[in-house]
Amino acid sequence: MNKPNKWEQRWHPLREEWVIIAAHRQDRPWRGETIGRSENAGGALPDYVEDCYFCPRNARVSGARNDAYRGIYAFDNDHPCVGSTAPEQLEPPVGIFRNSPATGTARVVCYSPRHNVTLAELDLTEIESLIEAWRDQYTELGSRPEVNHVLIFENKGDVVGVSNPHPHCQIYATNFVFKTIEAEVRISKRHFEKTGGILFQDVIDAERRDGRRLLAENDSAIAFVPYFARYAYETYVAPKGTYPSIAAVSRSELRDLAAILKEVLVRFDNLWRMPFPYVMALHQAPTDGGLYPSVHFHIEFHPPLRAPTLLKYLAGPEIGGGNFLSDTSPEEKAAELQAVSTVHYKQAGRRQAAGR
Ligand SMILES: [Zn+2]
Ligand SMILES: [Zn+2]
Repeated sequence: MNKPNKWEQRWHPLREEWVIIAAHRQDRPWRGETIGRSENAGGALPDYVEDCYFCPRNARVSGARNDAYRGIYAFDNDHPCVGSTAPEQLEPPVGIFRNSPATGTARVVCYSPRHNVTLAELDLTEIESLIEAWRDQYTELGSRPEVNHVLIFENKGDVVGVSNPHPHCQIYATNFVFKTIEAEVRISKRHFEKTGGILFQDVIDAERRDGRRLLAENDSAIAFVPYFARYAYETYVAPKGTYPSIAAVSRSELRDLAAILKEVLVRFDNLWRMPFPYVMALHQAPTDGGLYPSVHFHIEFHPPLRAPTLLKYLAGPEIGGGNFLSDTSPEEKAAELQAVSTVHYKQAGRRQAAGR
């Protein structure tokens, strides 16, 4: 295998766009763009917080009160960006402009009643239950006639704007299909028509043949930093079988997926021994009644940090031009994640303290 190039353009097959890998600039002098290091954030937090909207039995902004829940807890968002009460009568815009009612459902899913844990710290059985909850939410919301897409995502960490550390994800069930999903669906369909193959399978195949960016693999699930990563430590987690959505994945495959997901999350947290911030999104087929045999359900992680205190700012190339410039090499970032332990540092600390 050749030494990885540090300066080249790489084609992102799922988005059909170029990513500029400019890792040779990594060590250039850096000014600004640093943030405070939240070392061990979460460690000092109590497991119940009186004024947390997500803790069991607490009142939320709407006045509704959370159940005394013990496992996973889902409820409709009190500040929905899409909702059943969105105005239906809209002022018609001028000329070429278009609008439409922002109907749909926005939900919050709490992973645990414990305020001070992260997804990475949950037991494997808890992560399995969460994946089943995602499946049930996708199926329930997706079956509504007005819902054409269900986006399940987690924003984790201050740097992606999350002020409440209580472990939770969000669901937007919308009347439109989100842009990235729409593009992946269209591109996968065309790839199938052209080659007879599943695009995401071809990506998995190339990742396994190369091998340098694989993070975890078991019988039916896999995780890797993709060749065309746009963010440092960007990671995909997926079943190896092609299923348009989580609803079609078998029980044993869900268990395998939970194990790989857990391993990736623990590696993330162990990297800098701090809760690792990310945006996680489940990419699944639209729920508009169509069939999507070429769509391969997967989970994408987009971490905003390049180092514990260094934020990847989206600027000229990304916001101005729409293509990513990555200052890091996917092979090097994958190697860093491969090098850390698969035992969470907080658990390892507890085990040591207990003399085991
Ligand atoms: Zn809480
Ligand atoms: Zn995707």
